[in-house]
Amino acid sequence: MTRILHRSIAAALPRAVSGQGVHIGDAEGRSYIDGSGGAAVSCLGHGNAEILEAMRGQMDRIAYAHTSFFTTDAAESLAERLVGLAPEGLDYVYLVSGGSEAVEAALKMARQYFVEIGQPQRRHIIARRQSYHGNTIGALAAGGNAWRRAQFQPILPETHHVSPCYAYRDQREGETTEDYAARLAAELEARILELGSDQVIAFVAEPVVGATLGAVPAVPGYFRRIREVCDRYGVLLILDEVMCGMGRTGSIFACSAEGVRPDLITIAKGLGAGYQPIGAVMLSRDIYRAFADGSGLFQHGHTYIGHPVAAAAADKVVEILSRPGMMEHVQAMGERLQSGLDAALGQSPHVGDIRGRGLFRGIELVADKDNKTPFDPARRIHARIKKEAMARGLLCYPMGGTIDGVHGDHVLLAPPYIVQPDEIDQIVDRLAGAIATVTAE
Ligand code: PMP
Repeated sequence: MTRILHRSIAAALPRAVSGQGVHIGDAEGRSYIDGSGGAAVSCLGHGNAEILEAMRGQMDRIAYAHTSFFTTDAAESLAERLVGLAPEGLDYVYLVSGGSEAVEAALKMARQYFVEIGQPQRRHIIARRQSYHGNTIGALAAGGNAWRRAQFQPILPETHHVSPCYAYRDQREGETTEDYAARLAAELEARILELGSDQVIAFVAEPVVGATLGAVPAVPGYFRRIREVCDRYGVLLILDEVMCGMGRTGSIFACSAEGVRPDLITIAKGLGAGYQPIGAVMLSRDIYRAFADGSGLFQHGHTYIGHPVAAAAADKVVEILSRPGMMEHVQAMGERLQSGLDAALGQSPHVGDIRGRGLFRGIELVADKDNKTPFDPARRIHARIKKEAMARGLLCYPMGGTIDGVHGDHVLLAPPYIVQPDEIDQIVDRLAGAIATVTAE
């Protein structure tokens, strides 16, 4: 008997009762390897004594102080650390309680920035199709996942969408990577001009697409071209690193690998590593100055922003993430995961693509590999793989849905960064077994 409204109402879920390292235990005594860190959240595994100690210390000192009265050592220390690790010029931090809140805050910050600098006519947000930026109204509107948006469409604010950078399906036969990136940048430019060269507030994108496509990095050079287009029309670039940030792809900020400096970055998930709900927006010096020299007030806020216990947990998380060797370990384990998946699944007639960066890997399942034909959505391949994997003691993150007429079944892997080689091999074995069973049925 449950009185919780679960996401899938009818699902009978096991009760999680323990977590240690990369493992979660349920009330029936079963143990699972947390191969997806929940939804790419638990980046340092479960039961981390240092993070728990940092939270306890903060709770003993003070558990809550409203941000209209106080700042705290924990919040200041966290902000200092993040600024030290972020691309140059992203010098300020706005704390929130999760990913959707971070995206909402970034969108409002971008809009208010233009009001502050005397360009109040700017009113359009452009994002990409097949993207996910959160489930609150503004973030859902920014997202371009037709299935998630469909029933809420009438109450979503207007946003505009261009193509994602999705080489597996969209790079044309014979088209070079440079030409593909240039084509996508030209599409963005055309959309900006259509809306009015001085009418657009921001372009929003994930450096590595997570929840809708399954760990799809952009092709090299794509973000540099996008940055140029944004600069040409004074459009802010918001990079959503809620899922791919905080070391997930092998660098603390995913955009560091792209060589671009966005105006705003949203982070969450790995920031609290599952120990506390926390997210943040990192903003450029210019945006900060516009607020400081203008109204002196960012017209936003929630009761729990900057929560001291969440900030203390995240401060310890970021300190651990920045220790020597940590990102190298993520890269090495990521390579092992990719080559293990390539070896175990590369020849499968139903595995179309295996991709990703660092410990963020996605597998796209297809009915016919040669034509990249998706499975019939009614077969719910992704959901069945999740179930089969759980039966084998593996948690992986399934995604499926019909997006712009194209159905996709994907599985996302995002294990904790403390994962060891033998655990990577177990993840690969169990997932390959689950995929073989489901696709053979
Ligand atoms: N942006 C991205 C890129 C995400 O992956 C998610 C969550 N999957 C969100 C925003 C929303 O974050 P949250 O679920 O913490 O609100």
